[in-house]
Amino acid sequence: MTAAVTEAPPRPSRVLHRSSRAVPPRAIGGHGIWLVEEGGREVIDASGGAAVSCLGHQHPRIVAAIQRQAGQLCYAHTGFFTNAPAEDLAEELVGAEPGGLAQAYFVAGGSEAVEAAIKLARQYAIETGQPARTRFIARRQSYHGNTLGALSAGGNAARKAPYAPLLSPAFSHVSPAFAYHGQHPGEDEAAYVARLADELEAEFQRLGPGNVAAFIAEPVVGATAGCVPAPAGYFRAVRAICDRHGALLILDEVMSGMGRTGTLHAWQQEGIAPDIQAIAKGLGGGYQPIGAVLVAGRVVEAIARGSGAFQHGHTYLSHALACAAALEVQRVIREEGLLENVVAMGERLQRRLAERFGNHHHVGDIRGRGLFRAIELVEDRAGRRPFDPALTLHARIKQEAFARGLACYPGGGTLDGVRGDHVLLAPPYIVAPEEIDLIVERLGEAVDAALA
Ligand code: PMP
Repeated sequence: MTAAVTEAPPRPSRVLHRSSRAVPPRAIGGHGIWLVEEGGREVIDASGGAAVSCLGHQHPRIVAAIQRQAGQLCYAHTGFFTNAPAEDLAEELVGAEPGGLAQAYFVAGGSEAVEAAIKLARQYAIETGQPARTRFIARRQSYHGNTLGALSAGGNAARKAPYAPLLSPAFSHVSPAFAYHGQHPGEDEAAYVARLADELEAEFQRLGPGNVAAFIAEPVVGATAGCVPAPAGYFRAVRAICDRHGALLILDEVMSGMGRTGTLHAWQQEGIAPDIQAIAKGLGGGYQPIGAVLVAGRVVEAIARGSGAFQHGHTYLSHALACAAALEVQRVIREEGLLENVVAMGERLQRRLAERFGNHHHVGDIRGRGLFRAIELVEDRAGRRPFDPALTLHARIKQEAFARGLACYPGGGTLDGVRGDHVLLAPPYIVAPEEIDLIVERLGEAVDAALA
């Protein structure tokens, strides 16, 4: 698969890159799960970027849909017009879906979707005569985006610290549902869930239940902790507490949604439905920047009965070209039955990871759902302590993997936002069995090299 590599001479860059020390290689093309670097080297996109590229690269149906739409209409401001791709995409997303989600609001990415979700919850409170509901409860070890409001909602200490105090007064944080670290020895799952529910209830009481607009959580925690699903019954308990106190439930499925965990929405595996849901990444599959907020009927109706206008607008709302790309992505997933492949390949990935790392002294946990899987690195399996006091293990794995033609998504701060390392894998839904095996083989070599 790998083409000959030619050395590219270093070039100056005027792009402000993530690292001011090194300009990354240029990606010049892609096909399927592979990305092509300038010079010809091919790299497996084993995390779809950051769980974005769900159909892989240069999928012919999506490219054709973009070309068709680009020839017809790219953009018409929503102050004047709606457009067919936006209307059809909304129909595709909430027309036949369970759970009472009634309308979709299209923005340009995940952080914008979370901002809109937060503001919708505030507006719902106001429209229903509950202006005191200004507070939000979120969880530690969560990531909700990089804009100031979304970053304030997130609970990852290290990511927030440089920008303190953010919008902190509106957000407080309870424990994540993270059994590997949070469940006490000897405590069964039901007791663990009950303890988390008690903590959430106590937080509502501390804030005053009538002051809370919403609870926000990722159904499967992504980048901050590495594909952590909640224990059974946790989200039913959360839903019950929100309902008891008249607060909304916002689910952030920006990373875990749109089929990534094997069902279209991760919450469908929890026996509950949210009032407001943020999606992005897999919505457009990376073909266009797009995010969305899916809104339950009761929120839509409250606004319609009240002021009649959602006071939140962005320039690129319902962008026609972005919506056309996302619509085709979602149709391909549905028409080609790709969620079945997500489940089958997800099981294979879990099995292969277990074979390769199941007895590895420094791999403590192998977890996730669908094609959203992670390994957690530890000092020793019994103690579950973070591996590396210098906090560089995940970065070394990333480097070793990339040198072997594998782009994966290692993260630090797994344990508490500061300490701990994991590697997240989120390959495209079209991944083939032998590609799963190759991903695990290369990751195995990279982990061993990083630990050597
Ligand atoms: N929420 C979650 C759960 C995410 O994983 C991310 C991105 N990693 C965001 C929100 C923010 O999305 P974006 O980067 O598109 O703004």
